[in-house]
Amino acid sequence: MAQKPGLPFVFEAAGRADCLITLIALPGVRVPDGLPNVEQVVVLDIFGDPGSAHAWLASAHASQPFDAIVATLDAAGPFTADAAARLGLRGVDPEAARICRDKSRQRDAMRQAGLEVPGYRLIDPVADIGGQVADLRFPLVVKPVNGSSSEGVSRADDVADLKAAVDLVRDINATKLSSYANANRGERSGVLAEEFIDGPEYCVEAISSPRGTTVLTITDKGNLQGPYFEERTFITPAPLAQDTAALITDAVCAAHRQIGIEFGASHSELRLRADGTPVLLEIGARMGGSGTVHFLVETATGVDFLGAVLNQASTGELPDLRPVHQAYAADWIAPVTGHGVYAGLAGAEAVRRHPATWMLLELMHPGMVVPAWPRFAGHPAFVLSAHSSYEDCHAYHAWLEETIGIAWAGTDE
Ligand code: ADP
Repeated sequence: MAQKPGLPFVFEAAGRADCLITLIALPGVRVPDGLPNVEQVVVLDIFGDPGSAHAWLASAHASQPFDAIVATLDAAGPFTADAAARLGLRGVDPEAARICRDKSRQRDAMRQAGLEVPGYRLIDPVADIGGQVADLRFPLVVKPVNGSSSEGVSRADDVADLKAAVDLVRDINATKLSSYANANRGERSGVLAEEFIDGPEYCVEAISSPRGTTVLTITDKGNLQGPYFEERTFITPAPLAQDTAALITDAVCAAHRQIGIEFGASHSELRLRADGTPVLLEIGARMGGSGTVHFLVETATGVDFLGAVLNQASTGELPDLRPVHQAYAADWIAPVTGHGVYAGLAGAEAVRRHPATWMLLELMHPGMVVPAWPRFAGHPAFVLSAHSSYEDCHAYHAWLEETIGIAWAGTDE
């Protein structure tokens, strides 16, 4: 459902899991011919016209039943959960999917689970802003309630920053994110302000069933300080002491139980406070990076993450998820660094020749008009690599910073 066609992992995994895919594409998304294991491509406007999309799925299912419906796109979570429930297929509980799409509801759930949460507050953008955060301690982070990919997320060090950050989110909500929220189903866009947690950040890839949540990997995501939080580097496994890893695993599993995630892949993000307490910032009831984290998990542990997800979706069974080896895997995201008309990626050939490079995925096409951060139109490129040590990953990323650049056409940077 709504899978980004430029990322190959889901399509390739379908072959391993003996599945044929009906790709439900979003309107306007270019789908290349010849995607592996794709039987048909159907364009459905799941956000603009969910009723017609459900009707198409029902009639297709009646003539040739689907085994499962799976999404990795964050915004598609609630529709996908609804669709699976309507068709009587396995899936994420629709209420859990909705909580995961609402950062304020996530905070409520984590607080109910007794987990650490940053002080937070839903902001009314047309009322006096400063007064609304009187109980919170600056610096704050302002973000869309139903955003993803760090779009519109910014740090505010004072009330003037806060007002600008709220205006920015308000605009992104009006022009984009409100169209993802189905108000008839209790979904919303909005503006959330919360306290900035100053500490290293980690992602957790996991898979859940009614028997519980299994954490597959904990990934080092660096320590971005803002003012914007464009995602940059992922290294798996993170170099963590065992007791810290256990604290993270416990917090993630408790949050899954509280929200009611009992099916499929999930992607959680958290920071550690100075005393080592994990503070969960985000749980998505879907695979991270549109399936890219499959590479991190499989390279670092030998577990076929996407294979497990597709297997569980179609048969209900999870395979053995114990690691079979240990290595280091990394994903480096090329920063947007400017805006205007995208003209291409410099340094791509050198990166492809480097022995540590597993894959360079170019995700923008020349001629594409790209806005300045923190507006998000897509990542320019992912560089996936395999290494024998954490230090190697860092050295390779330092080399990528020097080697890759973005060319812009026209007068922009
Ligand atoms: P999105 O779902 O759009 O990625 P997040 O809430 O995950 O939004 O925020 C994006 C990034 O911004 C996080 O990965 C983190 O680096 C940073 N961030 C968000 N909230 C906080 C916070 N309260 N404290 C510190 N950093 C934060």
